[in-house]
Amino acid sequence: MTPTFDDLGLGADLLQAIAEEGYGSPTPVQQAAIPSVLEGRDVMAAAQTGTGKTAAFTLPLLQRLGGEPAKPRRPRALVLTPTRELAAQIEASVASYGRNTRVRAAVVFGGVNIKPQIAALNRGVEILVATPGRLLDLAGQGAVDLGTIEVLVLDEADRMLDMGFIHDIKRIMKLLPGKDRRQNLLFSATFSADIRRLAGGLLTDPVQVEVAPPNATADRVEQAVCFVEKRMKRGCLSALIQDGNWRQVLVFTRTKHGANRLAQQLEKDGLPAMAIHGNKSQSARTRALAAFKAGELRVLVATDIAARGLDIEELPYVVNYELPNVSEDYVHRIGRTARAGQSGRAVSLVDNDERKLLRDIERLIGQTLPRLEGVRMPAPAADEPETERARPVRSRNSGGRAVNSGRARSSGKTRTSAGAGATPRAASGAVPGATGSTTSNSASGEGQGRRRRRRRRGSGGNTSAAA
Ligand code: AMP
Repeated sequence: MTPTFDDLGLGADLLQAIAEEGYGSPTPVQQAAIPSVLEGRDVMAAAQTGTGKTAAFTLPLLQRLGGEPAKPRRPRALVLTPTRELAAQIEASVASYGRNTRVRAAVVFGGVNIKPQIAALNRGVEILVATPGRLLDLAGQGAVDLGTIEVLVLDEADRMLDMGFIHDIKRIMKLLPGKDRRQNLLFSATFSADIRRLAGGLLTDPVQVEVAPPNATADRVEQAVCFVEKRMKRGCLSALIQDGNWRQVLVFTRTKHGANRLAQQLEKDGLPAMAIHGNKSQSARTRALAAFKAGELRVLVATDIAARGLDIEELPYVVNYELPNVSEDYVHRIGRTARAGQSGRAVSLVDNDERKLLRDIERLIGQTLPRLEGVRMPAPAADEPETERARPVRSRNSGGRAVNSGRARSSGKTRTSAGAGATPRAASGAVPGATGSTTSNSASGEGQGRRRRRRRRGSGGNTSAAA
């Protein structure tokens, strides 16, 4: 029987906050991690964004820190994250889950005024959420003393390594008490060889939690591929959004420049859009995200790193305007939809140069993605890149015909939860995204999951994606 939150050993003040959040039962990572964290054990968890991992460490952390208040400049718990957005969201979760407790939290990251952060540390906080660079800056100025940290949480550790934070992490570790004098929690989407090495130096006899294969989220997302010439992509995207009446779409581009350009072009097409990426100021990113969440912005165009950590509940659509160079990033991207048990849709616009990337992705997720057909392809605008000539696209599965039938075709290898041979909805369908058929690996059983995990373990560290 699925345990309830009451069964996990959480106190009444936290249970009340959970009820107010509207959570029914704990997610698998919460079921596995919360009791161990409450016991004071070190935990190493393979769980990606969307699995409920933030609450899995935040709830027991709040309970453990409920006692004595922290002294000024001496937080009792440190949560390290790779990006500003993720840091801000974790702090928001801490504030939300801890609303009935006396535990105080602060978030510190670069790109914003340091003075309010120093002031918050001076007042004293139990939980400090931080990105590595700004934390080292504050420690260097004597604004924070990490020598009394009781609990360390490394969130999205794989992404920290991808982003080259290993040296900062090592410097921060030197400022903390020894690893056996603190509790250590490490969360990562995958347990690569690099992550295991990092964990070896950070954790003591950890409880290992691996609740679902990292692409379990991907299995709840209805995915499709649309073959399209490069210079037709923008028109194709606008048509998908307009014809399908998509109201909230997260679009990924590979470069910052590409994100800016696409957002401008979509605006010209009458679709309110903004770009977020590493070159944007923190306030611009926060504004864009708030407008997107509020439904004022129909399209948010983002690069991989900027999108990391975005938590937009029930985000229905993700579009890969360009495929990522690193296959694992595909899984992270489409994981932005289908959050916490929801289903969602992800469409990838793939040009000729990207076919190899698509093959790599399909190998990683163990599926051949259905091909979308019949998508309207408006003529490219005059300012579209001149590198390729506009011509009808021929789909791999469409028998060489121009893509025009309006249906997503499911290849023989693709499994759907609606049963063998079920056809996913077309992207331009009227009611896409809420529920219904999703791709699933249920038919494949554990063997495939194990094979995938083995492949991932063998793949070692990832390369860094452009932000
Ligand atoms: P995370 O994986 O921490 O980014 O969480 C993803 C989303 O799941 C967030 O929007 C949370 O509010 C939501 N969530 C976390 N735990 C639960 C739960 N037990 N039931 C329903 N939603 C949850």
